[in-house]
Amino acid sequence: MLRITFLGTGTSTGVPMIGCDCAVCRSDDPRDKRFRCSLWMQSEDLQWVVDTGPDFRSQCLRAGVKHLDAVLITHPHVDHIMGLDDLRRFTFAEDQSIPVHASAETLKALRRVFNYAFSGLNRYAGYLKPDSRAFDGPFLLGSVRVTPLSVRHGRVATHGFLFQQRDGRKVAYISDCKEIPEETMALLMDVDVLIVDALRLREHPSHFNVSEALETARKARARLTYLTHLSHEIGHAKLEAGLPDNVRVAFDGLVLDI
Ligand SMILES: [Zn+2]
Ligand SMILES: [Zn+2]
Ligand SMILES: [Zn+2]
Repeated sequence: MLRITFLGTGTSTGVPMIGCDCAVCRSDDPRDKRFRCSLWMQSEDLQWVVDTGPDFRSQCLRAGVKHLDAVLITHPHVDHIMGLDDLRRFTFAEDQSIPVHASAETLKALRRVFNYAFSGLNRYAGYLKPDSRAFDGPFLLGSVRVTPLSVRHGRVATHGFLFQQRDGRKVAYISDCKEIPEETMALLMDVDVLIVDALRLREHPSHFNVSEALETARKARARLTYLTHLSHEIGHAKLEAGLPDNVRVAFDGLVLDI
């Protein structure tokens, strides 16, 4: 079994947005309160997160994350990486590092932003000690096979991930995406659960809107789809009421057992 906890489902500003008085930002529905996008995944043998945004510390405290074996980073936009230093709680002993799986390009950006940690000079207890793992194809996290999914999202190299369990069940996570190349779409076909970017209803230059997300789910023949990376233009209850039965709006704290 793979347990997925949505640590955050919001776009780069989070929801509510600073200084906004719109109906969603003022909503009493807890599902309209969104930290920046992150997933916590627990398999039978390992635990990892996908992305460590600016809310990462609060997300770990809220969800009760006590241990991590690895981290996966989709791309180096600030809403996905700025909490990386809080991983030091998981590398507390001097000899304890944490594998950071990302593309070579993303790792290069991480090294620039968090040079003090990646330089390897600071091995003191309590310091962040990342262990760079550049992926160039599928890799294993314990019993789960992870396939990086190259997608188009503005100008920065961006990946989603396909997680395949031993029994064949597949979950795909694509948090930031405007276009899915054909070779990536082929990997997504008949996925059991698709978690996908759906920023808002209107079009956006570097993110799927809701109809593009629905079209992707339909094309991939996803059994079940969850929309994420949501802006304040999406009110949870209102959007979900109009969706097909097999498409749901993700929310912070949602737990799926797959
Ligand atoms: Zn983002
Ligand atoms: Zn608002
Ligand atoms: Zn992004």
